[in-house]
Amino acid sequence: MHEYAVTKNMLAVALEEAEKAGAKKIIEIRLVIGDLSTIIDESVQMYFDFLTEETIADGAKLVFKRVPAVFQCKACSIEFNKPAKGFDCPQCGAMGAPTGVGREFYIESIEVE
Ligand SMILES: [Zn+2]
Repeated sequence: MHEYAVTKNMLAVALEEAEKAGAKKIIEIRLVIGDLSTIIDESVQMYFDFLTEETIADGAKLVFKRVPAVFQCKACSIEFNKPAKGFDCPQCGAMGAPTGVGREFYIESIEVE
């Protein structure tokens, strides 16, 4: 249920940005979410709908962009996108370890009017 906190923080950033831009309304917020993050789109949307009531982001559309997780092989050091199953290096078969890519959650862009 940590989506509540991340959604609240995300909305605060979006509202601040919109205010800086002198916007009257937020139309759309594009979010980037790493595949390894445990954030569930539907939960973010649900909290967003609730939190945006009586703000300029009321009715704004959320667009979720998932980025694949990148792993690095411990044996041969190549980086690869995590396969659907397991964590094995496609080159040598050793087990890969997660890199920072795949855990992100941030606003890519905001559309305002
Ligand atoms: Zn390898």
